[in-house]
Amino acid sequence: MRSHLPRVLIVEDEKAIAELISVNLRHNGFTPIWSEDGDSAQREIDSVLPDVILLDWMLPGQSGVALAKKWRADPRIKAVPILMLTARGDESDKVLGLDAGADDYITKPFSTQELLARIRAVLRRRAPEQVAESVTLGALSLDGASYRVTFAGQTLKMGPTEFKLLSFLMHHTERVHSRSQLLDKVWGDHVFIEERTVDVHVKRLREALGEAGSMIETVRGAGYRLTVNAHAT
Ligand code: CA
Repeated sequence: MRSHLPRVLIVEDEKAIAELISVNLRHNGFTPIWSEDGDSAQREIDSVLPDVILLDWMLPGQSGVALAKKWRADPRIKAVPILMLTARGDESDKVLGLDAGADDYITKPFSTQELLARIRAVLRRRAPEQVAESVTLGALSLDGASYRVTFAGQTLKMGPTEFKLLSFLMHHTERVHSRSQLLDKVWGDHVFIEERTVDVHVKRLREALGEAGSMIETVRGAGYRLTVNAHAT
């Protein structure tokens, strides 16, 4: 069971460049996916939404600029950062690329370090608001600003995924959430992971919660529910 590595879709018709980028991304904690033209990139996006798109300017078929425009107009794709790759360094091309909806622009040849820095920068800028709202249910408190969870005044230690999961459940109590709903709400549309991953994190969350772990109920055949009654004091 591995954690989610950011998926980087490389849309690039030059195989040697795509391979070089792929190797470097893989060595630096990303999952590269290569598409050699707009059509195959579209199929890839339709199947799994990437975290970042590296988009070559000059492609057979639809150009990078046309693709950027198309994807920016698509509600499902528009939040995915696009980094344009081009051999040209022209100011007018740069403006065209950014106008088409690219988040940033990188001119070939570029260094691996520069590419990684740009990818990390667009990921940071596009990161969804991670600050969870604070919530208290009985003796259990979650502080979104400080990322702290306390039960009866004692700080509980947990990982970031367990924290997000708990935050979601505490904001949506007394309702049963299926595994796929939890994947969607907690992990997001970017991830293709098995539903049993949810079970693993629920188990960890219960362990982290200690006494309060019984607030999370397993509803057979349906999913999980956080319930406050009888545990709140
Ligand atoms: Ca090209």
